[in-house]
Amino acid sequence: MATAPAPRDAADAAEQDRLILDAVQRFLDRDVKPHVHHLEHDDIYPEEIVGKMKELGLFGATIGAEFGGLGLSASTYSQIVEAVSRVWMSLSGIFNSHLIMASAVQRFGTSEQKQRFLPRFASGEVRGGLALTEPDCGTDLQAIRTVARPEGNGWVIDGTKTWISNGIHGQCFAVLVKTDLEAQPRHRGMTMFLAEKGPGFTVGRKLEKLGYKGIDSAELVFSDYRIPHDNLVGGEPGSGLKHALAGLELGRINVAARGVGVAQAALDESVRYSQVRRTFGKPICEHQAIQLKLADMATRVEAARHLVRAAAEAYDAGRRCDMEAGMAKLFASEAALENSLEAMRIHGGYGYSKEFPVERLYRDAPLLAIGEGTNELQRLIIAKQLIARNPV
Ligand SMILES: Cc1cc2nc3c(=O)[nH]c(=O)nc-3n(C[C@H](O)[C@H](O)[C@H](O)COP(=O)(O)OP(=O)(O)OC[C@H]3O[C@@H](n4cnc5c(N)ncnc54)[C@H](O)[C@@H]3O)c2cc1C
Repeated sequence: MATAPAPRDAADAAEQDRLILDAVQRFLDRDVKPHVHHLEHDDIYPEEIVGKMKELGLFGATIGAEFGGLGLSASTYSQIVEAVSRVWMSLSGIFNSHLIMASAVQRFGTSEQKQRFLPRFASGEVRGGLALTEPDCGTDLQAIRTVARPEGNGWVIDGTKTWISNGIHGQCFAVLVKTDLEAQPRHRGMTMFLAEKGPGFTVGRKLEKLGYKGIDSAELVFSDYRIPHDNLVGGEPGSGLKHALAGLELGRINVAARGVGVAQAALDESVRYSQVRRTFGKPICEHQAIQLKLADMATRVEAARHLVRAAAEAYDAGRRCDMEAGMAKLFASEAALENSLEAMRIHGGYGYSKEFPVERLYRDAPLLAIGEGTNELQRLIIAKQLIARNPV
């Protein structure tokens, strides 16, 4: 029967995804939840947990099976990110930006680059992230100053990147540089390299943060760093901005899924607390003012989850999804911010205490409105696409 294999494959894939999601949930319950408070408050890199993440295959979650990855769709992957962020958002950053680097290689790398890097990325043997931001620019990426000049069979990179996630514990980074300072438009002079740490590529300093603890954010310094031409993504200079922006589409779906996780965690804590805390002779969940908050929080979570699902489905179908990813990122990150603040109000004084998880959610949520393109930028992307898709 011509139609038989497809549904069976789809059913198999769905069953496999379910098994992976179950395994991730067991790992979160057993290996993460009991340790979050201590690791987060003391800002400790979760070495042992990272070892377990390797075993689970999370560092290869979206890398193709032919390279040793799990080959998950963005739809399944975003559910993993949500589940992880519901427990501890920082953990998702340890594999999210690593996988964006991997997706640049998988989508745009030469076949030699795929063979050389992807199996090591998938196993977690080599981990890293994406190095775009510089001390003088983040949103306006075309203004970067890190430069690569040709020398012999390779290139020499000079410049500084900042705020780079996994900067200290990672070994390899997809670095955006200028290879032609005079190019017009400017993006034609931009190129992405896969830079492995070594002479000339060092960590400047660890950056201290409000939240998002445990994961390292660092300044990376390139000084006369020699890199072979074989590490130039795709083999030809001039497409670096395209490679970076394509990665950010998946990155924004990731961040949106983190937003759903954090917003859901704030709701979970509030639903629980409001049933045990009593004022004026009854649990506070019986006061209408608290009920209004819970209802709005729950509605935001559901709406954000639907937006993430729609964006991930568009990404998986190979459709252009910058508007969908932008909407999901904008709405879900704002939902995380609003829900974490509401959770703090619902917890009263205990919400402000370091003994309860709510204050961590409140410190983690604002990053979601900044990273992977600020929410101001998302609004500009959404509006631009809205007009482009509806010409008069
Ligand atoms: C914890 C953390 C982790 C990070 N991880 C990484 C990482 O792994 N890799 C990486 O490359 N970067 C990383 N970043 C950097 C992050 O992506 C940038 O901070 C972000 O893109 C904003 O850039 P900026 O900080 O330079 O702000 P700016 O670009 O200076 O923006 C400042 C303000 O101006 C607004 N603005 C700018 N341009 C416009 C405009 N045209 N219209 C309207 N408003 C505008 C912005 O929305 C913002 O409100 C991280 C940042 C943090 C805090």
